[in-house]
Amino acid sequence: MSRDIVGACPLDCPDACSWVITVDDDGTAVKLRGNGDHPHTRGGLCVKVNPYLEFSRDPSRLLHPMKRVGAKGEGRFERITWDEALTTLAERLQHILDTDGGDAIWPFDGTGTVGYLQGVGARHRFWNAIGAARHHASICSISGHVGISYTSGTAAGMDPEDVVHSRTILLWGSNTLTSNQHLWPFVEQARAGGAHVVVIDPIRHRTAERADEHVALRVGTDAALALGLCHVIESAGIDAPFVAQRTDGWDEFAESLRDYTPERVAEICDVPAEQIITLGRRIATSGPTAIKLGQGMQRQRHGGQAARVVSCIPALTGDYVRRGGGLVYSTGDAYGLNSHKYSRADLRPGNERTLVMTRLARDLRRTDPAVKALIVMGANPVVSNPGQGAVRDELRRDDLFTVVFDAFHTDTADFADLVLPSTLQPEHTEVMDSFGHLYLNWNEPAVAPPGECVSKTELLRRLAAAMGLTEPALFATDLELAADLLDAPAWRAAGIGIDELRAAGFLRIPGTDAYSPFAERFATASGRFEFASARADADGHGRLPNYRPPREAAADASGTFALISPANHFYINSMFAGIDRNITRSGEPTVTVCATDADSNSLPVGELVRVANERGSFIARLAVGTAARPGVAIAPKGGWTKTFVGGNSVNATTLERDSDMGAGAVYHDNRVTITRLPG
Ligand code: SF4
Repeated sequence: MSRDIVGACPLDCPDACSWVITVDDDGTAVKLRGNGDHPHTRGGLCVKVNPYLEFSRDPSRLLHPMKRVGAKGEGRFERITWDEALTTLAERLQHILDTDGGDAIWPFDGTGTVGYLQGVGARHRFWNAIGAARHHASICSISGHVGISYTSGTAAGMDPEDVVHSRTILLWGSNTLTSNQHLWPFVEQARAGGAHVVVIDPIRHRTAERADEHVALRVGTDAALALGLCHVIESAGIDAPFVAQRTDGWDEFAESLRDYTPERVAEICDVPAEQIITLGRRIATSGPTAIKLGQGMQRQRHGGQAARVVSCIPALTGDYVRRGGGLVYSTGDAYGLNSHKYSRADLRPGNERTLVMTRLARDLRRTDPAVKALIVMGANPVVSNPGQGAVRDELRRDDLFTVVFDAFHTDTADFADLVLPSTLQPEHTEVMDSFGHLYLNWNEPAVAPPGECVSKTELLRRLAAAMGLTEPALFATDLELAADLLDAPAWRAAGIGIDELRAAGFLRIPGTDAYSPFAERFATASGRFEFASARADADGHGRLPNYRPPREAAADASGTFALISPANHFYINSMFAGIDRNITRSGEPTVTVCATDADSNSLPVGELVRVANERGSFIARLAVGTAARPGVAIAPKGGWTKTFVGGNSVNATTLERDSDMGAGAVYHDNRVTITRLPG
């Protein structure tokens, strides 16, 4: 008799699908499908994950611990036992603790899985117990979170499923059909009822093609567009009682909008003034308007500010308290799980150093003290971090002990001293929240780990034992760790613990059946929506939301291109990107420009070209297409460097620099040249 086991997709995707794995009598997983009972998954997964079981059995899967026998970066390794791996790692960490202290140890968690137990969802208590440096996960969405925190106070401003009640839907910086596809049926349901769907994005991607309207603005000018829309809404008519009763600083903000006439904004954004006027009036008169804000638009020098400005739009219209209105950037804020009990910061010996994920090369150059151990878990920074050349240079350092814990031998693993084999989602216990819906998923292990793979939680238990640590919390089982997460007020009050979650497979966040987070108050200190923010001013971001141009993207220098690196349709970040099947179906690396730019720059369509700037270069095949607006080049992210001619990928050109807020990444604030390869 086969059995069906309920689990959840672990990838860095807002949809956080619930899945069902059918397991045969002999313990083999024979089928994977989306959970038809899950209200958001609705029975389907996606092109990235449908072959997950095949990926988990791919011949390239890591099955045993390995130690490096060649030079760093060369990729030569030999198999060792777990005893040798753990003894080596434990001795090295203990030596660093004794000589340099925990500040010299960097646990570098990535988004290979975003779950709480095995992924980046919460910091594991082991690292707190030994006093390792804190890891600031700045790679994805932090700037937008900080920007929105100054206005409404939370990025979870509405239930995405409530777009079915919307009359106007703005998919702002979101290629929904590729990166949030389970939202699309709700969008279509709204559209069937008459809703108007607008994509705001420099790229004419597959979602823009399917929308009713596309605003193809210049890269990095989102804040200016949002201010222009606010200007028009102010003229067309705001919800005056809402603004008076529920917001602060409107008069000051309204005054600042005078500078953002549709004509001026049209010039900044390179979109027709008439389109700005029509859209602004539509938002003012044809609400409720829902804004689904994607992460890409805030990967700019002033990305936090951009999210801050966009979040003002529903405050002018009062849509924040209308069903089907508001803004959602991430629903993650709504879960209220007990990360503190899980992570046990109280075990820290007192040191508080924080190292920034997207400043890996810079922080590896620090000497106060120097980082001596980099423990990479579920991350592939050689591919995913900005500043690829500088990252590789630092990873070659002789005094840096690097460990990669992963399911595959990534580009980063080539630089490791130890490579340790990790489980994948069907093989371990996990608790998954979402940043695109309001359900908590349970992941029950369905099959035994292959080879000598272990879960992250098991690795850290074994490491604690190898180091002779005796704190009982470090040996908590996965079920005990999950129980700690659920030991939180809303979940306790609803009588939900792990037994209930496990039995159900997924559960909606208690009290969110008619989710209206701002019905009573906003999540700011004042309880009001803050157009003007003293806190933002004190933090150096200005009292009012504002627009400042990007560092490189909007320069429009002749013969150069603003380079955007959006998601690949076939994989997320770099996860599974090195598997032959994915290399084949996603095709060779390309860079796409519009036909006019290819022509005017005499670029060789269909041939390999060099994409370069002062930071580095990569080689890709030149394509032309309508996805790219003039002056923009598009090269999808995530492909392993091994798949690129010349061995560099997109991030050879990106800048390792902090955005304005939260030390976020600035991947899309990038300018490059494109040239023919010689002869
Ligand atoms: S990647 Fe996203 S859409 Fe695909 S199965 Fe996972 S959660 Fe669902």
